Amino acid sequence: MPHEFVLPLFLGSSDPEDAEIALFGVCWDGTSSFKAGSRFAGFAVREASFGMEEFSFYQQRSLQDVRFCDYGDLFLPPGQKERVMADIESAVREIRSRKQFPIAFGGEHLVALPLIMAAYEEHPDLALIHFDAHADLRSEMWGDSLSHATIIGRAADRIGYEHLFQFGIRSGSVEEWALAQEHRTIRPFAVDTIREVLTKLGDRPIYLTLDMDVLDPSLYPGTGTPEPGGITWDLLIAGLKEFQGRRLVGMDCLELAPHYDPTGVSAITMAKTLREMILLAAQRKR
Ligand code: MN
Ligand code: MN
Repeated sequence: MPHEFVLPLFLGSSDPEDAEIALFGVCWDGTSSFKAGSRFAGFAVREASFGMEEFSFYQQRSLQDVRFCDYGDLFLPPGQKERVMADIESAVREIRSRKQFPIAFGGEHLVALPLIMAAYEEHPDLALIHFDAHADLRSEMWGDSLSHATIIGRAADRIGYEHLFQFGIRSGSVEEWALAQEHRTIRPFAVDTIREVLTKLGDRPIYLTLDMDVLDPSLYPGTGTPEPGGITWDLLIAGLKEFQGRRLVGMDCLELAPHYDPTGVSAITMAKTLREMILLAAQRKR
């Protein structure tokens, strides 16, 4: 009798050869300034995905109708920041060269920098949408200009602050606030103006970077820098639904440190968010 052996990959993922969307873990936490642990996101999210339906009530679509693969976690050694950044960059370039839509998940926010830069290389008119509790616009933290507290600033240095749109932000330094005011990047606390911004962007290519600590920590405690006063799951879903039919060119879903949430609901929340992202990628404008 034949047996089915199940790999610990994200629910519903299929052969990379046929996939048009590629999920992969970038689970590293080398610059986490408070509670580290997002290096463990990969297994937690995949395990959580097995308790989830493939069908989305929100988008009325199923993962079963989407050709996507899960490559697993990219090997990223603790420490070795330069090597880690270079490895993520070459991995995402390879995925893009296969014409697969990249969706990265897992670790601290710094890992998004090479992901965004790879999208920008292909799309010089890229707009960056950023959901987060934190502005991540610092010029440096403890003498380091490359960390999860500076990532969005480093991305904006390259793509231009006028192409950056930040939502849900409720924490940052006085310098970050001034910078955000100067360039009008921050829509503090809320995500309700996302439709307005997306309408204005029209057919421009969009990269979405989602720091899951934008959610209220009562809903999502499994994260390294929890910040009270966050948005609800309903608001996150409503915000994500606005991306339906938009010209997305890459997405990430980051900052899960599963061990701080013994209930496991944070991992389930990231798994469900990834399901919605995969379904969004499948119906994006080309
Ligand atoms: Mn962040
Ligand atoms: Mn954050």
